[in-house]
Amino acid sequence: MGKYDFDLFIIGAGSGGVRAARLASKLGKRVGIAEEYRFGGTCVIRGCVPKKLMVFASSYSKIFQESAGFGWDYKEHLFSWNKFSKSMNSEIDRLEGIYNELLISSNVKIFQQKAKITSSNSVILNDKTVVTSKYILIATGGEPLKPDIEGGDLTITSDDIFNLQHLPQKMVIIGGGYIACEFASIFNGFGTEVTIIYRGDRILRGFDNDIRETIEKSFLKKGIKIINNCFPSSIKSNKSKLELQISKKSQMQAQIILSAIGRKPNIQNLGLDKLKLNLTKEGAIKVNKFQQTSQKSIYAIGDVTNRLNLTPVAIRDAAALIDTLFGEKKRSPDHKLVPTAVFTKPEVGTVGLTEKEARENFTVKIFKTSFSSLGSRIKNNQEKIMMKLVVCNRTDKILGCHIVGDGASELIQIFGISMKMGVKKKDIDSTCAVHPTIAEEIVTLS
Ligand code: NDP
Repeated sequence: MGKYDFDLFIIGAGSGGVRAARLASKLGKRVGIAEEYRFGGTCVIRGCVPKKLMVFASSYSKIFQESAGFGWDYKEHLFSWNKFSKSMNSEIDRLEGIYNELLISSNVKIFQQKAKITSSNSVILNDKTVVTSKYILIATGGEPLKPDIEGGDLTITSDDIFNLQHLPQKMVIIGGGYIACEFASIFNGFGTEVTIIYRGDRILRGFDNDIRETIEKSFLKKGIKIINNCFPSSIKSNKSKLELQISKKSQMQAQIILSAIGRKPNIQNLGLDKLKLNLTKEGAIKVNKFQQTSQKSIYAIGDVTNRLNLTPVAIRDAAALIDTLFGEKKRSPDHKLVPTAVFTKPEVGTVGLTEKEARENFTVKIFKTSFSSLGSRIKNNQEKIMMKLVVCNRTDKILGCHIVGDGASELIQIFGISMKMGVKKKDIDSTCAVHPTIAEEIVTLS
């Protein structure tokens, strides 16, 4: 037994925390982990995984519609929210069990309770147990924000949306980012009347403009209403409906209002004020390039650091940290060229610089196409596929790849590998097409 109870004590058993625990344990380290809620964190319990299951569930309406042109005739295709909810929840329970099992089989000591840091090497648990550790890792993730307006508390967030008792007929979504767009698309697929209320002039700010335009057009065609440049001022509850004041003179009614206006780092009641940990101006834990906080023995990874708030990034943060703490060489996580997807219909896949970002530092050539996929007429599907490559004029290197269309999330994963390897436009041109596919268009861009 060393000076401390543990070599590493982790607060938060989400994607980052669990990975750090398992990797450290594999190296023979004594690891403890505290989790106040369920194992798996945002991604597994109330984020990526249940969201993707909802994407699958809501996609069938389109598949049924499209199949008619190919000769299929379904007399009835009714959706049961209840049945789906049960399947989704039992899948989440199963995955949570796997996370739990992985920790147990890795010999990680689990504390299923809230933990508060009391000093640079000690933590107190809810039941007043005090544990000491050489290193403490904060991996508590983030939590969704609600609008700071009168009645803002009447909104629900992505945490609540997986527990809805009924499918709403009418829904308003405030925000225009990942969560707003994904749930607009999901609930549109379920047949809900969806309105997005966005404070800017076009949804998906920060993405390439061609992605933004293609998604906006596609949403409008599907009947998703978008009200841009709109700042709602209050929400009132009126019998079974909510009333949202969207301008001086106009209101909107909906059964649910989803707040999708971003997330904040989860640092409440962690004892950070006493420790005087440095925070960023957004209230995230400030870390150096080795993910060390202003207290030498305390580290932080994932969303609580508000760097790049994506599950696979938190997992990589964890791996880099374990190398730094217990490996042969210190390592900082690589946050460059991270591919990402927005699971709308159609999907978005993107990696690297947007055209606008690239033009700020490079002379660029743009290769882009917009087309309808094979069979789209028979399917009566008016969705456009958009593909765009941003290429450095001087080096011929691909600086950015942006795709909208079915399968964009799968395509962009592979494209991310090529870009990490420094792929040039001439390499793409020299690659033979796979025919007939959507992906072949990327190698025939000229
Ligand atoms: P985003 O940061 O993506 O979007 C927040 C949206 O809310 C923006 O449109 C923003 O407008 C708007 N907004 C911010 N503050 C206000 C306000 N006070 N009033 C009105 N509107 C406001 O956050 P999300 O909540 O959608 O998602 C959180 C994060 O989770 C994402 O950034 C992403 O990192 C991650 N995520 C990833 C997913 C994926 O990988 N597929 C899926 C879901 C989430 P503006 O554009 O003007 O700033």
